[in-house]
Amino acid sequence: MTETGFFDANALISVLTTEPLGRPLDYRAPEEGCWTGAFVEVPLGPRRVLGVVWGPGEGGYDLAKVRPVTRVLEAAPMAAAMRGFLMRAADYTLTPMPAMLRLATRAPGLADPPGPRKVYRKGWAEPDRMTDARGRVLDTLDEYGGAAFTLSELSALAGVSTSVIKGMVKIGAVAEEEAPRDLPYPALDPDLQGKALAGDQSGAAETLRRAVAGGRYGTTLLKGVTGSGKTEVYLEAVAETLRQGRQALVLLPEIALTSEFLSRVEERFGARPGEWHSGVTQTERRRLWRMAGEGRVGLVVGARSALFLPFRDLGLIVVDEEHDTSYKQEDGVLYNARDMAVLRAALTDAQVVLASATPCLETWVNAESGKYARIDLTSRFGTAELPEMRAIDMRDEQLEANRWIGPTLAGAVTDRIGRGEQALLFLNRRGYAPVTICRACGHQIGCDHCDARMVEHRFLKRLVCHQCGETKPVPVACPNCKAEGRLAPVGPGVERLAEEVAARFPDARLAVLSSDLFSSARALKETIGKIAGGGADIIIGTQIVAKGHNFPLLTLVGVIDADLGLQGSDLRAAERTFQLVRQVSGRAGRGERPGLALIQTYQPEHPVIRAILSGEEEAFWRAEAAERQRAGMPPYGRLAGIILSAPDAQTVFDFGTELARRDAPLRRIGAQVFGPAPAPIARVRGRHRVRLLVKADKAAPLQAALAAWVGQVKSPNTLRLSIDIDPQSF
Ligand code: ADP
Ligand code: ZN
Repeated sequence: MTETGFFDANALISVLTTEPLGRPLDYRAPEEGCWTGAFVEVPLGPRRVLGVVWGPGEGGYDLAKVRPVTRVLEAAPMAAAMRGFLMRAADYTLTPMPAMLRLATRAPGLADPPGPRKVYRKGWAEPDRMTDARGRVLDTLDEYGGAAFTLSELSALAGVSTSVIKGMVKIGAVAEEEAPRDLPYPALDPDLQGKALAGDQSGAAETLRRAVAGGRYGTTLLKGVTGSGKTEVYLEAVAETLRQGRQALVLLPEIALTSEFLSRVEERFGARPGEWHSGVTQTERRRLWRMAGEGRVGLVVGARSALFLPFRDLGLIVVDEEHDTSYKQEDGVLYNARDMAVLRAALTDAQVVLASATPCLETWVNAESGKYARIDLTSRFGTAELPEMRAIDMRDEQLEANRWIGPTLAGAVTDRIGRGEQALLFLNRRGYAPVTICRACGHQIGCDHCDARMVEHRFLKRLVCHQCGETKPVPVACPNCKAEGRLAPVGPGVERLAEEVAARFPDARLAVLSSDLFSSARALKETIGKIAGGGADIIIGTQIVAKGHNFPLLTLVGVIDADLGLQGSDLRAAERTFQLVRQVSGRAGRGERPGLALIQTYQPEHPVIRAILSGEEEAFWRAEAAERQRAGMPPYGRLAGIILSAPDAQTVFDFGTELARRDAPLRRIGAQVFGPAPAPIARVRGRHRVRLLVKADKAAPLQAALAAWVGQVKSPNTLRLSIDIDPQSF
């Protein structure tokens, strides 16, 4: 059904809509006819809904009753490769096609009638009189590099009233123009002089360039230590893609990384790429969606969902920091953007570059086996050396109660900030304290809706459930024994660590980086810019600091608790800890001065900690891979998680037991089912959750068996079932 054809007026066509209907419906082509892949509006009962022309109609019923398409939208028809990709992705993730199509049409106002409108952009005159509000308008216009906004967008983004903007139009500081709805993006110039590549960078770039020029599918692991120039190298692959007249997509794991990336693109190609993530305005998203489909944007940088943009001719997908857990979408359609990138590329003759200093085990194994190509960049660019790594044995450190920074680390911090350098303290825990306990009765405050402890957030002055987001004030009396004033925080979060730092280093300027402390991507970006410019002495952060930032003055990284990730029974614990600690350590010494990473641990002889320190990665990966292979776990075997949830515990458990008992479709492919067991978090938002795990051989037709298996038992109305292929934790 992925061929393209034209349907004449009144031809019987099948239209896939975004409504959860199970299958495409038949309609009649409109007067002007339509192409396969055309975006259309069709009547459904009394409503009009969005759909895509999927192929010829099925027929086989009273043809007189088939209604015509209401209207063909102004968007370029969805390319055949894209339709094929959605179908394959739906099969892989066991997602119904309408839900898949919703992912691919997440651009607001797609169905709006086209027509000119007024947009606002930077004017030619400086304001005669500068005010705060006017300054914010100009900053906003600068920040988005020449983009045009509608009046309401600009006023919302700049936080000013519309009359401020109208006032600026009168004096020429803001230009008001009639614009077609969607402007093409400025062309990027691939042949603008790039940085002169050095050492193994040039060979790496040349290999990627050739792969792109070949015009066929292939995946390459670009493995290079932090600061080795992976970005510089893959930008050359982007350049080649542009020369070929095709489109490139770069996925980044964190919005906060985009602004540095945008500037680098602008420097290399003379203009900015399209940008796609939650911080982008609605108008801009709509424009990017359409331009991607028309092939009028050469490069897009975005979050994982950018993978579902309707690119007309995608020639390259880069997944930067490919090991990052944020590539896994954990809500709604459960997919891993890294795997979907490979799938999409294979269907559209594109190259994939997976860039990382610490690739995930699956990728490492795929490179070992020759399924992926592999390029290594082994040294940092220029004079920057990799940081020295040292463990601090916490058993020797004599920590006082409620202190987390040992004397050795504290001494190193004093030393560095005394020299005008920066220190980063890493603790992967948001909030003030992970547990609030009653000193009278031992009760721990939990969420009312989830099986999770509430985490105190002192900046918010509230307890927060990290599962469902529920918050409540910190109570005065214990909810259990009613004792007053006996509730106490236990354990550290970044906010509490910040308190310790403020007390011990009263003259140091602190910056705390934790995703929940920033109201907007812009605020986070400002703080990151401030740090990079030397506006902080000590940086305290959760895992958002581990990702790709470049802080030239940073020479010391202290990992407060390297053991944190090693607890628990998660099979990926070792891999995750290895990646995270190596990543965050890699922030040190990226400038001219050498870096040091101090790792606080109570178990310095643990194999993972030893691998982190020695840097003997290949040995570490080999050992991990052998372990997985022995256990028949991914990537050597396949897993699927089935999460069942319902308001009533008995219902979920009974249904889970019933499913587990009727496992014939699974046994037929040699798969095993484990459970039901309480899910890792057994209650979320008032729903009880049970998990079944299915384990199969790599070659077994897992998806088909799963579909047959869950399809044979009718589920109660209150029950929700979701299937997670390749779950992240197991
Ligand atoms: P990675 O992506 O591997 O962490 P980057 O590409 O960000 O590494 O490079 C690290 C730093 O070194 C950046 O500031 C980058 O501009 C600089 N750099 C890397 N290669 C070169 C080069 N060939 N010429 C000039 N600067 C470079
Ligand atoms: Zn909760």
